[in-house]
Amino acid sequence: MTIGTRGTVVLIEDSDEIAELVRMVFENEGFRLIHAPNGERGLDAVRDRDPRVVLLDLGLPGIDGIEVCRRIRAFSDVPVLMLTARDAEIDKIVGLEIGADDYITKPFSPREMVARVKAVLRRSEEAPRAPSTIEIGEWAIDSGRREVRSPSGEVFRPTAREFDLLWYLADNSGLALSRSQILEAVWGYEYFGETRTVDVHVRQLRKKLDGIPIETVWGVGYRIAD
Ligand code: CA
Repeated sequence: MTIGTRGTVVLIEDSDEIAELVRMVFENEGFRLIHAPNGERGLDAVRDRDPRVVLLDLGLPGIDGIEVCRRIRAFSDVPVLMLTARDAEIDKIVGLEIGADDYITKPFSPREMVARVKAVLRRSEEAPRAPSTIEIGEWAIDSGRREVRSPSGEVFRPTAREFDLLWYLADNSGLALSRSQILEAVWGYEYFGETRTVDVHVRQLRKKLDGIPIETVWGVGYRIAD
C-alpha cells in the first residue's frame, strides 16, 4: 500500500528506537508517520498536519504527555492514544481525565498497536446511534445527552469511554459480561491481555456514580442487575 493513503499519524515520542519501529509498522499499513521528539514539536505537528490519530508518549522531556494531551484537547478532537511505561500509570492518567481515547502499555507489539489505532479510527467514524434512555432501578442513562441521572436527580456526565462502558452494561442488563467481551464491544479490539483497562474504568464509574449497581461477577467480569 502506498505510504499516506490512509492518512497521517503523529507520533510524539522521545525514543528514536521506538519511533523507527512505529514508523515501519504504520508505513506498511499505508499511513504517513510524522515523528515529533518532544511535546512542543508534537503540538505544532498536530496543528499543522491534521492527523487522523496521535500516539503520545507519557514520559517526554519538557512538557509531559499529560500536559500535551490537555493542550491538544484545547483545540482538537483528534483521537489520542497514550503510550505508557507501566500499567500503574494507566490508573493515574485515566483518573486525571485528560481526554485520551486509549492507552497502550510498553512494551507493545506492533500488531497490537495497529489494531488499537484501527479500532480508535472505526469508533471515531461510526455514525451516532439513535438517542434513547435506559433505566436501571432509579438511575437513568441518556445516550442522546450522554448523561446519567442519579436517583436523587443529580446529573453526571461521565467521560466518553465511561459512558460507552456504562451503556453497554445497561443495554445488556442481567447478563454477566466478560472483560474481553466488554473490551471488544466498548474499546473495539480483541483481547490482548489488557483487560485491566476495564477494571480501571469500572472503578471510575463506581466512584463517580455512587451506588450505581455494577456488580463484579467473580471469575467472569461485570453485570448490571435488571
Ligand atoms: Ca519517553
